[in-house]
Amino acid sequence: MSQRQVAMVMDLNKCLGCHTCTVACKRLWTKRDGQSHMYWNTVNTQPGIGTPHGFESMGGGFDDAGSARPGHRPTVEEFGKAWDFNHHEVAFGGNPDARLMADGGHAGKGPNWDEDVGGGDYPNSHFFYLPRICNHCTHPACLEACPRKAISKRENDGIVLIDEDHCRGYRFCQEACPYKKIYYNEVAGVSQKCIFCFPRIDEGVTTACSRQCPGRVRFVGYLDDPDGPIHKLVHRFQVALPLHAEYGTQPNVYYVPPLSPPRLDEALEHTDEPRIPTEYLISLFGPRVPEVLATLQRERERVRQGETSELMDLLISRKWLDMFGPYTRHPRTVETNYTQSVIKFHRKGEAL
Ligand code: SF4
Ligand code: SF4
Ligand code: SF4
Repeated sequence: MSQRQVAMVMDLNKCLGCHTCTVACKRLWTKRDGQSHMYWNTVNTQPGIGTPHGFESMGGGFDDAGSARPGHRPTVEEFGKAWDFNHHEVAFGGNPDARLMADGGHAGKGPNWDEDVGGGDYPNSHFFYLPRICNHCTHPACLEACPRKAISKRENDGIVLIDEDHCRGYRFCQEACPYKKIYYNEVAGVSQKCIFCFPRIDEGVTTACSRQCPGRVRFVGYLDDPDGPIHKLVHRFQVALPLHAEYGTQPNVYYVPPLSPPRLDEALEHTDEPRIPTEYLISLFGPRVPEVLATLQRERERVRQGETSELMDLLISRKWLDMFGPYTRHPRTVETNYTQSVIKFHRKGEAL
């Protein structure tokens, strides 16, 4: 157990699906050899099969008795192999059949292959976006599965890290993580994953994915800080829920489930049912979903009636920096350039 646990809450009512978070992470941490298929942050259209494809049925995590469940090791193809674009051939090649993808036009799978497809039939089609990072779990299946003890949780904030000097690339962690948030770097021969931007956190700067998010979706802070946004959303107002808690790893990323417009009946009249089926949201975020949606609707209605709502003010995030708990420092004020730090997960002390 760590002394404290840093956590993230993502409000799915505000996610635009813009992937700015994904790009912010990619630009900072996974531009190197062997990392082209790595997106430590992914944003998937739901309902959909996610990234890696079908991760929810790949096993891993723990059963109700606390025993490790067998898990599948996702392939690079299941994550979505990188491909080259064939812009020149398409624009200037004179070949009307030229495909935009240089491999002949069939890239197989990508990090969000379901882009905006979603579920339901017209007029009740629906989708929402689900951003995912490593959950920096309190009971990390990846850590337990590693025979080299290369994975650890930091004492002071619970961030889960892989020590690449000890990793031998056995990839038991990939099989064990039920969220399939560990990637294998074939060039370096080690497993790699989201590091919760710990070099930034150590300098008082919030994670790149949260600071860059234009939707003000991501809150960062400590679960035990009563004045911080995480404690308020998870414990005080109890509107933030973990994804697939039944996987048994006690994840520390939480989600405010999405409200949706009413379903329409055959006469195209509004019904009392939400467009996104509540059963589907329960399958992701557990049995408390109806209670949370009722709280959000009640508080929203209060604001519409001219009353104040501390919960709605918090979720709207009028004060942007208040979203990041103690990590409000501007990245440019950090004297040590953290992107040049020599950090353990980048092997052999190689600078970024
Ligand atoms: Fe480990 Fe997976 Fe949990 Fe991240 S989400 S700490 S990789 S078990
Ligand atoms: Fe990437 Fe940092 Fe966000 Fe993790 S916390 S997904 S390392 S930007
Ligand atoms: Fe865009 Fe923020 Fe949603 Fe990421 S979490 S896709 S940055 S709105």
